[in-house]
Amino acid sequence: MLRLTNKNNTTMSEDFQEAWEDLMGIPADPPAMRELCENCRRPKPVCWCAYLPASPLITKCRLVILQHPAEEKRCLRTVPMLSLGLAPGFCLIFKGKKFPHNRHSGLEEIMTAPNSVLLYPSPQSVNLAELPKLPSGGFDSYNLFLLDGTWPQAKAIYHSSPLLHSMRQVKLLSTGTSEYVIRTQPTEGCLSTLETAALALTILEDREDIREILLKPLKALCDFQLDHGAVTHQSKEFLIKTKTYPKLIGKRLNRLLNGVSPNLEELDTDDPAQDQSNF
Ligand SMILES: [Zn+2]
Repeated sequence: MLRLTNKNNTTMSEDFQEAWEDLMGIPADPPAMRELCENCRRPKPVCWCAYLPASPLITKCRLVILQHPAEEKRCLRTVPMLSLGLAPGFCLIFKGKKFPHNRHSGLEEIMTAPNSVLLYPSPQSVNLAELPKLPSGGFDSYNLFLLDGTWPQAKAIYHSSPLLHSMRQVKLLSTGTSEYVIRTQPTEGCLSTLETAALALTILEDREDIREILLKPLKALCDFQLDHGAVTHQSKEFLIKTKTYPKLIGKRLNRLLNGVSPNLEELDTDDPAQDQSNF
């Protein structure tokens, strides 16, 4: 047993020893303060399970979500709403910073399948609405890949995963303002993963009810948060435009938002550290 000694190497008093042992006995993880819902893992007072469809949706497409590990730790996440709203097997989730990894069983095969498409706004991506409703080659539908994380995290995943570059790439056009108002969106028209997936499935399968059904828990959560005093977060783009964004932004981003040609960047002699925004 551990015995504490002071600098004279004599045994400390029994009282101190006892107090120390009590302290050592406190568990590192504090006990859970609130009971969690077993389904969505959120505290019961803010559980949104009542807004999930009575029977999970069966779609033609299969979603494949490549999730940055940091995304799982955020308090407001939307992927569980997707995975619980869709029938088992219709929403696969793989976690990591690079894809595929040895631990991602079966992922490489899906990534290289001819009916797999990646939703990512690269220069070569085509409008999702222009994809043929059924992929060629005898497949019933698409595997729709999404990157789940902040925009810088999604870009980092893309750049460290060469196989993603060779996938057929699609983008969503004119998506409107996000309904998910609690978490600040980096730009107008930037959607949560749930909104993106719901909209993409609605377009690909030509079924407006998919979007309505899948977004119900999100709407309920937003209403709940707003009723309980959460402030509606405008996108950073909106706040900067209206000069209400509290953080100083770099000149390059400021010019970008004001529609000045990015070519002028070359003339920028400012300290690049100024441009470290979250944009
Ligand atoms: Zn729940």
